Amino acid sequence: VKQKGRDGWHFFNDSLEQKVRQRLSVTQGLRLAIERNELSPRFQPIVCADSGRIVGAELLLRWFPPEGEISPAIFIPIAEMTGAIVALGLWVFRQACRAEFDWRRRWSESAPAYISVNVSARQLSEQSLAEDFAEILRETGADPRRILLEITETSLMADIDNNLRVLQRLADLGMRVAVDDFGTGYSSLAQLTRLPVNVLKIDRAFVDGIETQSENRAVNRAIVGLARALGLKLVAEGVENIEQLLELRALGCDYIQGYLFHRPLEEPMFIDRFSHELQE
Ligand code: C2E
Ligand code: CA
Ligand code: CA
Ligand code: CA
Repeated sequence: VKQKGRDGWHFFNDSLEQKVRQRLSVTQGLRLAIERNELSPRFQPIVCADSGRIVGAELLLRWFPPEGEISPAIFIPIAEMTGAIVALGLWVFRQACRAEFDWRRRWSESAPAYISVNVSARQLSEQSLAEDFAEILRETGADPRRILLEITETSLMADIDNNLRVLQRLADLGMRVAVDDFGTGYSSLAQLTRLPVNVLKIDRAFVDGIETQSENRAVNRAIVGLARALGLKLVAEGVENIEQLLELRALGCDYIQGYLFHRPLEEPMFIDRFSHELQE
C-alpha cells in the first residue's frame, strides 16, 4: 500500500520496507563477515539430567557487524535464503572441530563427550558437503565421533532421499546426527528409522509449560518413549526452571540444555568455568 507524502511516494507499511532494507544490508554484510572477523562462536553446555555434569556443548553462532549485534534468529534464515549459509556453515564446522581438538588436548579423557553444530538444509543439498567436512576434520585433527550434527526435523524430512545419502556419508566419517527441534516438524516414523540418527532434541516449545500443561507433559512422555524404543539419546532444550528439570528427569530424559544450568558462553569463559570440573 502506498501513500503520497510530501516528498513523494512512501510505503504505507513502513515495517515491510524496513524488513526489505534489513534483508539487503544483512545479505551484503554477511558476504564480508568472515574476512572482517565479525563472527564468534558461543558454546552452551549440555548436562546430564541426573548429575548436572557436562556431557557436551552446542556451538551457537554470533555476528557482530559494526552497527551492533544481529541475532541468528534474523541472519540465519536470510543466509539460508541467499546461500551464504554454505560458507558460514563451513566456518562454523571448522570452529567446532578446532574446539574439539583443543578441549581434548586440554582435558583429555574428561573433555565433554561431544560438540554439536547446527547444519541447515541448504548445506545438505551442497554436493561437496561430506568432502568439505572430511577435509576440515583432517586439517584440524578433530575426532569425528565427538562431533554431533544437529539438523532440524523439518530440514531432514524435506528432501529425504538426498538427506539419506548425505547423512550416510557423514555417518561413515564417524560423526553422529541429532534431530533438532523434534516435535515441530512432521516426521514419518518409518523415515526416521531409516536415517542414521543418534539423538533427539525436544523443542523448547514442549519444554515450555511442561510443569503446568498436561498436554505438553503428554507430548514429552511420548517422545521419551519413542527415543527409548529407537535407542536414541534424548536432549531437552530451553530448560529454564527447576520444575521443568524435575519433570523431565522423572520422565527419563537423558540430557538437559538451558538457562537453568548455563547460557551460551564465550570460549574463554567456558574453559574457565569447566577447568575445575574437568581435569586438566
Ligand atoms: P537452536 O538450534 O534451536 O538453538 C537453541 C536456541 O535456544 C539458541 O538460540 C539458544 O541460545 C537458545 N536457548 C538455549 N537455552 C535456552 C533457554 O533456557 N531459554 C531460552 N529462551 N532460550 C534458550 P540462538 O543462539 O539465538 O540461536 C537461534 C537459532 O539460530 C538456533 O536455534 C539455530 O536454529 C540457529 N543457529 C544458531 N547458530 C547456528 C549455526 O551455527 N548454524 C546454523 N545453521 N544455525 C544456527
Ligand atoms: Ca540446535
Ligand atoms: Ca533446537
Ligand atoms: Ca529451536
